[in-house]
Order: sequence, then C-alpha cells, then structure tokens
Amino acid sequence: MSNSIISTLKKKVSKKTWDNWFSTFELKAVEDERVVFSVANLFIKDWLQTKYGAVISDSIAEILGRRVSFEIVYKNKETPSVDSTSDQISGSLLKRKPLMISNLNPEYTFSNFVVGSENKALYEVALDVTQNPGKYNPFFVYGGVGLGKTHLLQAIAQETMSNFPDKKVLYITSEQFMNDMIQSIKENNIQKFRDHYRKKSDILLIDDIQFLIGKKGVQNEFFHSFNELHDSGKQLIICSDRNPEELETFHSRLKSRFQMGMLMSIQEPRPSTRFHIAKQLAQRESVSLPDDVAKVLADNIDGNLRRLRGAIIKLIVHSSVFRSQIDLSLATQILQSFTGSINVPAFQRPIDQIYSAIEKTMKVTKKEIESGSRSKDIVLARQLTMYILKNHFGKQVTEIARETGKQHSTVIHSLKKIDKSVMMGKGATKLLYDDVIGIITSNSAAV
Ligand code: ADP
Ligand code: MG
Repeated sequence: MSNSIISTLKKKVSKKTWDNWFSTFELKAVEDERVVFSVANLFIKDWLQTKYGAVISDSIAEILGRRVSFEIVYKNKETPSVDSTSDQISGSLLKRKPLMISNLNPEYTFSNFVVGSENKALYEVALDVTQNPGKYNPFFVYGGVGLGKTHLLQAIAQETMSNFPDKKVLYITSEQFMNDMIQSIKENNIQKFRDHYRKKSDILLIDDIQFLIGKKGVQNEFFHSFNELHDSGKQLIICSDRNPEELETFHSRLKSRFQMGMLMSIQEPRPSTRFHIAKQLAQRESVSLPDDVAKVLADNIDGNLRRLRGAIIKLIVHSSVFRSQIDLSLATQILQSFTGSINVPAFQRPIDQIYSAIEKTMKVTKKEIESGSRSKDIVLARQLTMYILKNHFGKQVTEIARETGKQHSTVIHSLKKIDKSVMMGKGATKLLYDDVIGIITSNSAAV
C-alpha cells in the first residue's frame, strides 16, 4: 500500500520536483480517516501542502478508492540531506529552520507576535497571564481562522514556562485531549488520563475547543477536568473559533464556566498591522522583505494570516529556486495565484521611481545620473539611487551594478558612503534620503 501511494505520486510530478521536494517524503500511517506522511522539516511540509496538496490527495484517492484527508508531519531531527539536485533551493534556508522542541513551535513567541492597536489589549492580558497565573481564570480567546490564536496560546505557554520553570505547563489541542481519552479508555486506564490532566498540570492550555462540538462524552470529561483544575486555582487558557455562546451542543454549565474569567476576542489585523506581520513572517525565514513588497501583500491578502504566510513562503521559494529578486513583479505574479485579481500600484520600475523622486528633490535628472559626470550633486544622486535600490527595494549588489551600468566595486563604495552618512544622521544626505523615500512611498500608497 505504502509503495503504491508513493509510486503513484512519483508518476504525477516531474523528476526535478521529486528530487527537490520529495526526497525525504515518507508514508507513516494509513488510518481510516487519514493518511500521514513525514518530511524532513517544517519548511518542506508547508511547501508540499501549499503546492502539491492536490496531487497528494489525488494519489491517495487513486490507491484507496476514496477521498481521505492527509497530514504531513515533520521529523524532529537535524537538517535534511539536501542532495545535489536541490542545491538551488538555498541550503541555508532549509537549514536555518529551528527545530521543534516539545509540541510547541519555537517561533510562536511574544516577540514574534506583532501587535497593532486592534489587539493591544488582548496582548497585554496575555502577558499578564504569564506573570500572574490564576488571575484571569479561565482566559478564553476566540476569533476566526488564521488570526493568531495558536500563536498567542503557545507564546503564553512558552513565556509561562520561562517565568515559572517549576510549574508544569501543558499545551494541547482539544483533539489531542479527545484522542488521549479514547486511548486511555481502550487501555482501560482512564484514571491515568485524568491524573495527567487534572493532577499533573498547573497550567492547562487547550486549543480549538470547538472541535468538541457534538462530542458530548469528551465535553463531559473536559468539564470535570476543568472544574478540578479551576477549583484548585490552576490557570486554564482556552481558545476557540467562536464565542462560547455559539459552541453548539456544549452544555450551558460549561459555556458559563468559559465566561466566568476573562473572555476576549482576537481581531483581524488592519492593513498597517498586516504590513508589519508580513515583514515579521519573512524575517522568521531570515529574509528581509522590501517595503513595497510587504505593502502589496498586506493590501491584497486580508483576514487569514496563514494565506499571507503561504504567499511569503511561496515568494521566498520562487526567488530561491529561480535565483530572482523578491520584488514587486515577483510578488504580483504570486499574488495573482492567490487572489485572482489584485490591486498593485501602477507598475514603475524601482529605479525609475527613484529617478523621478530625485529629480523632484535634487533637480538632478535621470540623464545626468546615467551620464559619467563627476559633478558633486550628480555623484551624490547616483550614490543615493544605488543606496535606495538596496535598502528600500532590497536589490542585491550585482543587480544594482547591472541596472546602473556601474562596476561592482563602485556600487559597494557608494553604498558604504551613503550608509555612513545616513546612519550617522549626517545633515543634508539624511534629509535628502528621507525626502526621496517620502516621495516614493507616498506615490505607491496613493494608488
Ligand atoms: P489561528 O490559530 O488563529 O488559526 P495561527 O496562530 O495558526 O492562527 O496563525 C497563523 C499564522 O500567522 C502563524 O504562522 C502565526 O505565527 C502568524 N501570526 C498570526 N498572528 C500574528 C501576529 N500578530 N504577528 C505575527 N505573526 C502572526
Ligand atoms: Mg489555531
């Protein structure tokens, strides 16, 4: 069976794709309701799910004769072996991914959580919970898919662990809770299960409680665990995709328990917050996203941040595989596959945007900049152009050299020179730089 699913899949993709992406792909389990595969790391997992989810599904259906969902897990071990055919996929990008310790994602921390005014209060209370367990009990957070509930919950778990190394912090999804319970019933050892949750945890975090809708038996068990923990002052933190009121089939006594502590919703980030989240999501992959790219992503992908993350991962992988820059034109291409229609500022090459902004502020024309003139103003305008290409638009030195027709060493020299003035806040150059950037960003914001 395993061989057939894998070999069917192999026939459906090109050899290059197989070698690049599926070299660590293995079948782990075929269960009634799902098939589980494993890969080397989180990065490959995300990529396969985004890009090859449909093909994987089709291969499973072909062999099992019906549609069964699948899950990809990643192995808890060192870096994958990146064979020679995949060396284009920047090895460092793969290697840089942090490893999972425990069941918490090490990236889901408070410092990686971008806060806009819309979620400021929620963030403050969450931090307070990590410092004063038991103060708001339970702490119940609800909101739509991809708004950061799991991230926040795991940040609370990790922060509490570091604040109180002696306390036992338990983070699980309600699905895991149910599976553990079923397993313990099968093994005739429900007591062990109860002790695990009720006696051995000081702080219990339960993710996606709405999963228990319609599962009365588990709800009942959870109710007792909840009460026992709550009565002994242990902190409970719960999240859900909906308000407790809307948890159909949940007994009203359980719903009212959920509301007796601190009940807060998580809000959809507004575009300006999404802009910072986009930069942050890229930063986690050690990539610096140029401002104009972050803006176009933030303006076009709303709501679910998993989609924003998906677009960014796709962008990074494309730029890495095809050795192209992460710029507005690549972002536009990727966005099209995500949203169909997009709202991109009338496209003007970055260098032309700079030229026209410089002409407005310094009265130096594109023609003069492109000439060989050594006059002081023109040299400065030329150096500033290179600097902005690098710092604002994220271009690499090689590309700047190509676009401006200058030597590699000249570019490096210019970048250093301007960097020094700008960094030291040296009067005129810094002011000029700010003016030019001001014009560029207001132009792109106006569209
Ligand atoms: P939910 O559990 O609400 O469906 P997640 O916690 O899984 O959402 O968030 C989806 C993705 O968006 C994750 O990669 C998460 O790290 C990221 N994310 C969500 N909110 C923020 C935020 N405020 N700052 C940075 N990243 C965020
Ligand atoms: Mg979640």
